[in-house]
Amino acid sequence: MNQEIYQKFGLTEPVIAYADQKLAELSPRFLQIDERAERAQLKVILAMQKARVDAACFAATNGYGYDDIGRDKLEEVYACIFETEDALVRPQITCGTHALSLALHAVLRPGDELISPVGQPYETLKSVIGITPARNSLAEYGVSYQQIELKPDFSFDYDAIRKAVSDKTKMMTIQRSKGYQVRPSFSVQQIGELIAFIKSLNPNIICMVDNCYGEFVDDLEPSQVGADLTVGSLIKNPGGGLAPMGGYIAGRKDLIEQCAYMLTSPGLGKEVGASLSVLPAFYQGLFMAPTVTAAALKGAIFAAALYEDLGFDVLPNKTEERHDIIQAVTLGSADRVIAFCRGIQAGAPVDSYVTPEPWDMPGYDCPVIMAAGAFVSGSSIELSADAPIREPYAVYFQGGLTWPHAKLGILKSLQQLVDERLVELP
Ligand SMILES: *Cc1c(COP(=O)(O)O)cnc(C)c1O
Repeated sequence: MNQEIYQKFGLTEPVIAYADQKLAELSPRFLQIDERAERAQLKVILAMQKARVDAACFAATNGYGYDDIGRDKLEEVYACIFETEDALVRPQITCGTHALSLALHAVLRPGDELISPVGQPYETLKSVIGITPARNSLAEYGVSYQQIELKPDFSFDYDAIRKAVSDKTKMMTIQRSKGYQVRPSFSVQQIGELIAFIKSLNPNIICMVDNCYGEFVDDLEPSQVGADLTVGSLIKNPGGGLAPMGGYIAGRKDLIEQCAYMLTSPGLGKEVGASLSVLPAFYQGLFMAPTVTAAALKGAIFAAALYEDLGFDVLPNKTEERHDIIQAVTLGSADRVIAFCRGIQAGAPVDSYVTPEPWDMPGYDCPVIMAAGAFVSGSSIELSADAPIREPYAVYFQGGLTWPHAKLGILKSLQQLVDERLVELP
């Protein structure tokens, strides 16, 4: 099926036949994903109906942004979806790192301690916390930090967490997605168990979850299993590929107020912040997010199936339950990693003629190759891949606004590997 049009992309019959065979095996899995997306879609519509979203919400605002009805209602919609008392959803929050940094700086005071009970946090958080020395880090403000490693089987080390907690412990940061580490991502249920344990030690400890890449993947969000603050980026899942920037924090009313004071100014808080003309994209992106996330998930599972059955290590594997949209494929050589990324690039609607090359990116200790042809710069809910050029030569890829595009990109990656004789089809 569709062979003729695929051939226009340079895909050969053996690659198409191999993919078709894998796809046939995946249909029960895809049905599950569609059913979950349906539930999430209905949840979003219900929240928008309840907030009485109307055309007035899409009007552009400027200046101070007092009485920005669209902004206020959007925050109400997020709070409804995440089942929280309040939410802060703003274009002034520049990205996921900013949203997380904002929440941490808003809550923590000199002398307080932050604990990560799930091992090291996402790369960019290291400067925020001060694990890597940085100006304006939490460390510079006198906030101490402890990190509890996961056990060898990647479960939570409850004993070590209990021992680490003291009177100083104000907050815990829990990262849902594995990010670029070799550990599984956590299910919302696991996160709920961890939070319940922390609260049993001291109910006042504020639990924040870094929800990046996790939104709409499970039926529940971390805020529904006890997280006080749930934080993410609109350039990922909840932006639905349409939000051109932004981040969100959903949670307890008093904490959201503190975050708003930190973002704008004490006293002003949520009352200011013009949305200019971005609100239609925020609303429509959120509306699209459940099916966009489903498309990205299908792409991740499809790639896992293709490469697992060619003998490569994939994380997660093709049958595992998913808790985020990231797929890691260990290709074992620099040549293969580069070919994979070139294939993804060649399948993009934007910048398809560009050839990605490894480069010495700031903040990394080895060359990194990145493939993306995105409508929103740097967007990782759009099909994209990146890989550090070092052992074990794993490529991380994620996204896909539509399933047909995710499929095309993955087929192009395999075709590139086949063309360069770097893999052999069975
Ligand atoms: C992407 C990501 C972040 C940071 O988000 P940016 O928008 O890139 O700043 C933080 N944590 C995790 C787990 C992420 O995936």
